[in-house]
Amino acid sequence: MSASPRSPKVLFVSSEVAPFAKTGGLGDVAGSLPKALRRRGMDARVVMPLYAGIDWDSLERLEGSLHVPMWWGVAHASVRLGYLPRSDVPVYFLEYHRYFDRPHLYGPPGEAYGDNLERFTFLSRGALELAKALAFHPDVIHANDWQTALVPVYVNTVEWARPLHGAATVYSIHNMAYQGVTDGGALFVAGLGQEHYNAAEFEHFGALNLAKAALRHANVLSTVSPTYAREIQTPALGCGLDGVLRERSGDLFGILNGIDVEEWDPANDPYIPEGFSADDLAGKEVDKAALQHEARLPVNPHVPVFGLIGRLTSQKGFDVLAHCLDRLLSWDLQIVLLGTGDREAEHFFGTLSARRPDRFKAWIGFDHGLAHRIEAGADFFVMPSRFEPCGLNQMYSLRYGTLPVVRATGGLVDTVRPYREDTGEGTGFLFGDLSPEALANTIGWALSTWYDRPEHVLAMRRRAMAQDFSWDHAAEAYERLYREAYRRRRGHELHAG
Ligand code: ADP
Repeated sequence: MSASPRSPKVLFVSSEVAPFAKTGGLGDVAGSLPKALRRRGMDARVVMPLYAGIDWDSLERLEGSLHVPMWWGVAHASVRLGYLPRSDVPVYFLEYHRYFDRPHLYGPPGEAYGDNLERFTFLSRGALELAKALAFHPDVIHANDWQTALVPVYVNTVEWARPLHGAATVYSIHNMAYQGVTDGGALFVAGLGQEHYNAAEFEHFGALNLAKAALRHANVLSTVSPTYAREIQTPALGCGLDGVLRERSGDLFGILNGIDVEEWDPANDPYIPEGFSADDLAGKEVDKAALQHEARLPVNPHVPVFGLIGRLTSQKGFDVLAHCLDRLLSWDLQIVLLGTGDREAEHFFGTLSARRPDRFKAWIGFDHGLAHRIEAGADFFVMPSRFEPCGLNQMYSLRYGTLPVVRATGGLVDTVRPYREDTGEGTGFLFGDLSPEALANTIGWALSTWYDRPEHVLAMRRRAMAQDFSWDHAAEAYERLYREAYRRRRGHELHAG
């Protein structure tokens, strides 16, 4: 007689969790996926650091203190408890001001704090100590990116013969470009002996590489889209770890991120002036006019607005945009851009904004509400990414009927269906070559579609808005992944009792 299956208990460890702290897509995932896991009946709990800027007073301070072994002794930390908004998902905040009471999560723009290895050792080790202190024995521990890459290593090493050793580990890659690379001599900071500094674990091309160790130690690996799962196994996008990933090809799964469909709901979005839906797009016109007004661009419904939002880094291809911007701005269109990042890029786009107030507006800053207003008010959304593990903005765009113009890479391939001029099929415009010409030509194609085939634009909009990007799909796939990870670790199914 076989026991009935039960839901996995999951400890989700992340260095950022929206809305508490976020620098990018990882924060969005950590703030949304655990809620969808709970909706499927899983006991999912989240652990993150208590950063400066989080509203500490609204969090419950748990009794006692947590003892986290560090290389220099034991860190005595407090723990605060909060919940993901509109949910009963517990979020445990590890409070240790020496490491986290700072203005930035990882360091000032373009820099990293010198003690990041120590800070995130604390988070990784602290998360495991917390689970034990709470007597929460997860079936699966889910670590994310280099900041928590030590988690699967600890479960296999320092947790040997302890309760957490039975937990299966999942390591998710949100961006292969960030690997946690530091000096080879620093392994002691992670509390691990130098014997782990070898080519099968932490050593990679003469340096200490946290992601590599996780790729070797975790039971199962995942990344945030099927296409990116294939791409990172190639030298072009594997960022030096493609060989390690190819060796574990059978353990690597691509699961497309969902989006928070409550937060990003055009029919019910407190950040935008007027709500709208696929059946009634009148509100989108109002939002467009408001966006043009906010950008101090001519308010004109006939001229299409192209939006861009994101980190101004080479990953996002803003340099490619810069190289064709003169050509684009000779056309009858408007471009609005919101971003922060490389100083040079900020300067370039910021000053261009003053020179071309008729067609171009750049806001240099991080502004959540404005991101919503751009998604709602723009007609097209441009993402010339060099690589894109999943990408969220194209999904927000689709949901807001703002047709994506994207490079065919990573999650963009998995979410945007290519437009076919003969049939009108598709939901957006894709290009392969990362060149200013290809980008300009594709924006030109979208522009000509706007002017010459407005019925196609309308049909694509409606089709795009009907797509389902909710986390419930992803959560189902993660549940399968967790069960698989458990099976691999324990050699049997996850049963009740
Ligand atoms: P990545 O994680 O590589 O930065 P994603 O598209 O996966 O890219 O996620 C980026 C997230 O950050 C999106 O939610 C996007 O709207 C948001 N974002 C990026 N830059 C800004 C900005 N300057 N202002 C507001 N939101 C931003």
